[in-house]
Amino acid sequence: MALIRGDAVESGAERRLLAEAEAALPAVLRDIRPGLLTGVSAVEQDGRRFFELGTTAGDRIELRLDTAALPQPQPARTFTNTTTDRYVVQLADTLRPELAGQVLSREVGELLAVRDRATVGAQVPLDSLLAPGATLPARPELSDADRGRAEEFNYLAARMNDADLGAAERLDARHRFSELVDESGLRPRAPVTDAQHAIEQYAADIRQDVVRPLLRAGAREAMAELAQPVERLDAADAHAVVEARAVRAAEGAAPVVPPGFTMPGLRPDGSPVPRAELDRAAAEAAERRTSLSGRTLEELRARQAALPEGRHPRYELMIGGGAALAARSPEMLLVDARGRWHVDPIEAIVQSADQVRHLRQSGMGDPYQFADPRQRVPLPALQLWEDTAAVRGPLVDGRAELRVGAEGRLLAEIRPADGSDPVTVEVKGTPLIATGIPPEIVPGADRQVPTVPEATEHLAEGLAALGAPEAAAARDRLLALSEGQDRAAASLSVLADAGVSDRLAASADPRVAGAMETLRATAAWEEARAAAPGRVLMGDEVGDGDYDPSVARDWVVAGVGGAAIANAEIILQARPDSRVFMVGKDAPFVLHNDAQYTALRVKHDAEYGGDGRLVTFSGRYLGAVGTVTAADGRVRLAALDSAGRSLGVEGDAYVACLGRVSRLPHAVDSVESWARSAGGEVRGELRFDKDRQYLGYRLEFEAHGQRHACEVTGAASRMLPTHVFGREDMARLTVLNDKTTPPESGNVAAGFMATALQGSHLARHTAAEREHRQGPPSSGGPAGAVGAVGPAGAAGPGDAQRAAGAAARSRSAPRTAPGQNRTTPPGSAVPPPHLRNRPGPEPGRGRGPGA
Ligand SMILES: Cc1cc2nc3c(=O)[nH]c(=O)nc-3n(C[C@H](O)[C@H](O)[C@H](O)COP(=O)(O)OP(=O)(O)OC[C@H]3O[C@@H](n4cnc5c(N)ncnc54)[C@H](O)[C@@H]3O)c2cc1C
Repeated sequence: MALIRGDAVESGAERRLLAEAEAALPAVLRDIRPGLLTGVSAVEQDGRRFFELGTTAGDRIELRLDTAALPQPQPARTFTNTTTDRYVVQLADTLRPELAGQVLSREVGELLAVRDRATVGAQVPLDSLLAPGATLPARPELSDADRGRAEEFNYLAARMNDADLGAAERLDARHRFSELVDESGLRPRAPVTDAQHAIEQYAADIRQDVVRPLLRAGAREAMAELAQPVERLDAADAHAVVEARAVRAAEGAAPVVPPGFTMPGLRPDGSPVPRAELDRAAAEAAERRTSLSGRTLEELRARQAALPEGRHPRYELMIGGGAALAARSPEMLLVDARGRWHVDPIEAIVQSADQVRHLRQSGMGDPYQFADPRQRVPLPALQLWEDTAAVRGPLVDGRAELRVGAEGRLLAEIRPADGSDPVTVEVKGTPLIATGIPPEIVPGADRQVPTVPEATEHLAEGLAALGAPEAAAARDRLLALSEGQDRAAASLSVLADAGVSDRLAASADPRVAGAMETLRATAAWEEARAAAPGRVLMGDEVGDGDYDPSVARDWVVAGVGGAAIANAEIILQARPDSRVFMVGKDAPFVLHNDAQYTALRVKHDAEYGGDGRLVTFSGRYLGAVGTVTAADGRVRLAALDSAGRSLGVEGDAYVACLGRVSRLPHAVDSVESWARSAGGEVRGELRFDKDRQYLGYRLEFEAHGQRHACEVTGAASRMLPTHVFGREDMARLTVLNDKTTPPESGNVAAGFMATALQGSHLARHTAAEREHRQGPPSSGGPAGAVGAVGPAGAAGPGDAQRAAGAAARSRSAPRTAPGQNRTTPPGSAVPPPHLRNRPGPEPGRGRGPGA
């Protein structure tokens, strides 16, 4: 019986699933943690519907239930915010409603385990003991996912014994319990006559010993009765197990997975880099990266020297990549400027380890390795992860830009960061672009026409529409102005001289009026920058460490969003006597859920009991930057509203953090011009994998009868350029972004965890496509880890070793990234077979260590 619908579902079905889950919640809570809660109540607030769970300890836990398209065969995923005690359980939108209670019991069990662990700051095991195919480690202990699974046993046992249920429902619960036993490695699968049986029984006994203390009486009894070799079960139970195994076997081959790599942060022998050695490990990884970049450049130049004039070495190419390096294929030449997390002066990302715990599934790194559950993840960890992923194939540290060559080939101009001469490569296939989020907007600029070149374009059209000779002359002068600084002020002068400024500002075309706004704001910005050198900054300059903290004591930070509060922290940390005046509208809900915002205000904002070095002015709408000359003649900077009036907030420096505008990545500017200047087309298309996971977007540039394409992923793919994508795509992505990172989680869709997960989906998708084209790889991945196939049976390879008295963890093959060495995602991501809707791994054929 297929229990999950395999097709896409309409919202009515999702509503039914949610209704089932909501209805099941009280019973789930009662069955898995009797005595924990004092009450459960549904709350509707600011468009969110969630449950408030009161605990006997006097805490209030917030739990929201939702549905989402999840990577198969995941039946659910849970975001755990132990900083704000907010949790979001997302059920797969393909899950059959009648399973909502069972799946919920596991997820709620897991989130309570995460919560308990955070309270005591305990270590979180990387591997799971009860996941399908899990290896038995040297020191068997339960992961949070295992604890969720234990609660699933408790829930099912309660149903088996619930006199209020009919006999068929109780029997169904018994069969599901038994299936869960099978797939959790709690019962040997090899026949009693097989030599493997003793090894599997040994492993099953250990697992049972470890999980038993979490089981309540009913589940313990059921376990004693059902966690037996199938030969010892009564006929009906044995039949159910045999049938379930047959269904699993019939499900067929495991899904294709990308090549496995040792997860960054793990040493080649699979042991984790200790926290005390993080800085050294990060420095060593950086050295390896720099050295590889030098060697790759030598190779590029040697290959170039051997080619005829006009030809260049051909490479598959990835331009840029931080968290998106999870998508990096070793076949690609990576060109990355090593920005973002290598240059940001902040000490840690704004999320705690618990808030980004799904990072493990991406294979980029284990946040718990370097941070306690509620601690923010330190930057050297990200640097270590990124530099480790970067050297998996040829690499140049530097910048790359795409262009179309004279013969119509797609080329990349590479400017190496070491200052050596530029090199050119020809792009093979479709390049992957992950250059991060777009730049910030100048204060006061119109968001529809945010830059001077765009403003010029619209003003030229507006002037042409005016039809007057002086307007035509002004248009010619406007278009003849050179690029670069002062162009905004020069443009305003041209328009004022011609006497057309007012007519343009009053234009019925909002883009023309907006263009005037942008010119004025940009001119004011450039003027202020010239009047107060080094003291008028874009937020990204502070975030990229490209500023001097000693230039000012009092800083105006324009904006109250994520970048603003991150910059406030950087500035306050850089200079002990500095003060920050943060001014803007209201901090978004997601900020109240990360591990930085409230903590920083508590430390420094007097309103929150802090030392007063941070003052927040909310509810203010900002316009352009203002300058004021102080009594001593020094220029001070002022926050102005959109009408140019002072908002009463001044400082010696001004940092603009007013958000970003969606744009095509800068690296494709030249290709876009190539297409547009020839009257060609630029088309965009959102990309999804077979599980409806968003992979980024594809761009196609067409002109001169030729077509070039590139793919954009990572943070860059989370804001769609409005001149390429329509409203429908934008609306779809907005919904998707929200599901990808519910705001309660303290994450954003362009953030590190979501980007790394997206990258891992893309890697899997690309590997599957490659395999489809070229056939399966003849051997394992570059790290030699894929295909560390365990023996059949519920025991993993480590079980055999342990039984043989050897070290439990294989030292011959490196441990690979969770989710990359297996046929299924790890931990809670691995559902029991009866919850799957498509071919998954056959338990007992686990590959490598379990989740
Ligand atoms: C100031 C700031 C603070 C942030 N704080 C957080 C946070 O605390 N938590 C969180 O989850 N997310 C945060 N983010 C979001 C951040 O974008 C993600 O964490 C993540 O880094 C996105 O990964 P990515 O690979 O898509 O892009 P990035 O990590 O931004 O990497 C892009 C890379 O491309 C390089 N690059 C750009 N152009 C080129 C080019 N032409 N050629 C070659 N290389 C190029 C850059 O130098 C960089 O190395 C923050 C973003 C910013 C800007």
